[in-house]
Amino acid sequence: SRKPMVAGNWKMNGSVELITTMADTLKNASNNKIDVLIFPPFPLLSKALEADIVAGSQTVSHEDAGAFTGEVDAKLVFELGCKYTLVGHSERRSIYGESNDVVALKFEKAQENKLIPILCVGESETQREQGLTESVVAEQLNVVIDKLGVAALVNSVIAYEPVWAIGTGKTASPKQAQEVHKFIRNKIAALDMSIAENITLLYGGSVNDQNSELLFAQADIDGGLIGGASLKPDAFLSICNSAQ
Ligand code: 13P
Repeated sequence: SRKPMVAGNWKMNGSVELITTMADTLKNASNNKIDVLIFPPFPLLSKALEADIVAGSQTVSHEDAGAFTGEVDAKLVFELGCKYTLVGHSERRSIYGESNDVVALKFEKAQENKLIPILCVGESETQREQGLTESVVAEQLNVVIDKLGVAALVNSVIAYEPVWAIGTGKTASPKQAQEVHKFIRNKIAALDMSIAENITLLYGGSVNDQNSELLFAQADIDGGLIGGASLKPDAFLSICNSAQ
């Protein structure tokens, strides 16, 4: 059975003070039953780790090291004490132009450096209206599977985040989310049954403390990737505790 996971993606928000408050609040999470972690901005990573919060980076470079001003490499993120990194968040794809190929490279760099990549996938509103949800998600997964093989999914997590649900307050219904999660798990099962059974699949997109319980109760939803609500310690704690 898969251990539930709830991860907070702070995006470009938060402060040194919020790390302290969050650390105090998360002491009350049922940590042995769920994996709880946050993705704060880079400068807060060591603060979070020092405060005993499990933390990861919001992205990593697809390069190893060198003249890449502003970039951060996976080896350094791991050395700092992080276990995870997000790759391919929709904001990285749409605002910073990360293609599926670059996302696959980042996934590879993360694993080469012992980080667990949380691969974000999801369709836009237009794509959903055009009935393209499954083909878009399949393509986003295929790029990684074709490049690295299905075995690469063993040490990874997949987050389904429909772009139209991110930061909009328009959550996918539990049924809509479950359908895509099931599609993802079946797709992996067609290649390797045991990997499919064991991989953690997160839902993201306007999750809050009112809707998390029903979402997490779906058969193929193993937890959530939380944006806005992960900045509010009490709301985030109750989302975490609704995942067990
Ligand atoms: P919101 O929870 O703010 O919709 O953000 C979701 C998200 O993008 C998490 O990565």
